[in-house]
Amino acid sequence: MSASTASTPISEAVAALKDQLVADRRHFHRHPELGFQEHATAAYVAERLAKLGIEHQTGVAQTGVVGLIRGAHPGRCVLLRADMDALPLAEETGAEYASQNLGVHHACGHDGHTAMLLAAAEILQQRRAELHGTVKLVFQPAEEGPGGAKPMIEAGVMENPHVDACFGLHLSNDNPVGTLVVQGGAIQASADTFEITVTGSGGHGASPHQTVDPVAVGAAIVGELQRIVSREIDPRDPAVITVGAFHAGTAHNIIPQRAELRGTIRTLDPAVQETVHKRLREIAEGIAAAARAKADVRIGKLYPVTINDEGMAEFARSVAEQVPGVEIVRRRPIMGAEDMSFFLNAAPGCFIFVGSANHERGLDRPHHGPYFDFDEAALPIGVELHCRLALAYLAAHHGTSASGGQ
Ligand SMILES: [Zn+2]
Ligand SMILES: [Zn+2]
Repeated sequence: MSASTASTPISEAVAALKDQLVADRRHFHRHPELGFQEHATAAYVAERLAKLGIEHQTGVAQTGVVGLIRGAHPGRCVLLRADMDALPLAEETGAEYASQNLGVHHACGHDGHTAMLLAAAEILQQRRAELHGTVKLVFQPAEEGPGGAKPMIEAGVMENPHVDACFGLHLSNDNPVGTLVVQGGAIQASADTFEITVTGSGGHGASPHQTVDPVAVGAAIVGELQRIVSREIDPRDPAVITVGAFHAGTAHNIIPQRAELRGTIRTLDPAVQETVHKRLREIAEGIAAAARAKADVRIGKLYPVTINDEGMAEFARSVAEQVPGVEIVRRRPIMGAEDMSFFLNAAPGCFIFVGSANHERGLDRPHHGPYFDFDEAALPIGVELHCRLALAYLAAHHGTSASGGQ
């Protein structure tokens, strides 16, 4: 534990924790766990919070951990979020701290997120005396799927005390270390799945007139779905419809009974998302009906669009500018999804990318790949940002009191 006190400047307090921060991150990196299996990670987090004297709850939405730092003064409640899960792929980095869990790799940087929030917790706990309100620390499971944010919210994480604002950080190898992306509006896409079962009537491959061919109908549906993005959505609104699986048939001379299509839908606007859902269903059903087949369409909503509140983003940017040596940059939204979106839909806030790439050191490989690793110089920046966001938010609303539960 560091020797810093409440009067130590934030940057110094963060610097004092640097070794522990890197050690924590490497510990998580060596011992990655998949979504809802983060038992050892959660236990490590809980043990640290206990050691710091931070009140906390474990087993929230299975493996989630929630800590509470109650300030000396009344005020609002700000939520800081980190995700803890790793991905099911083998690590090939050859790093000294590489995964010891075969086939599981912290390939998205969530090891860093967990370590950063633990360090921020330590510093904020030291500053309880100056806090006007409460900091809620959320260590979330299963961001990579099926999603831990929604079940945590359903378990009541936004209440007791009621959360007034939320912030989350994501390390990003799309941006060099030393940069921060802090911007309002949509920054990550919604992700939905669809499944279409086309039912026809099977028969001999040489006698198509005696059948209703679900392969031909399925192929027509795949083609027509591409028209939604190109002809039905405003070209200024991004959207993706990908058919990733198309299964039918068993032999060259049999027209099968059924074809199964599966795919993903990505949008940056809830209205566009609704339009795509509606038209996808109508087009699939309509094409099938025209061919005397039947299409059963099932759409599953996974993650909503990640939208940063404009006012909160502006506030976060003003705070981020105070972190020494960082540059605020902009980036275009990405079509990958994030379940931080559920927190941001429940309380206004901002999700921030912390640049973590270092081209000279070769630490710039893509997320979710076997060679993913990042520059650990990004970690202290994230810790300082977490601390400053919480302190500044609570100080800014000091005296305005909590908005009250609802
Ligand atoms: Zn990821
Ligand atoms: Zn991630």
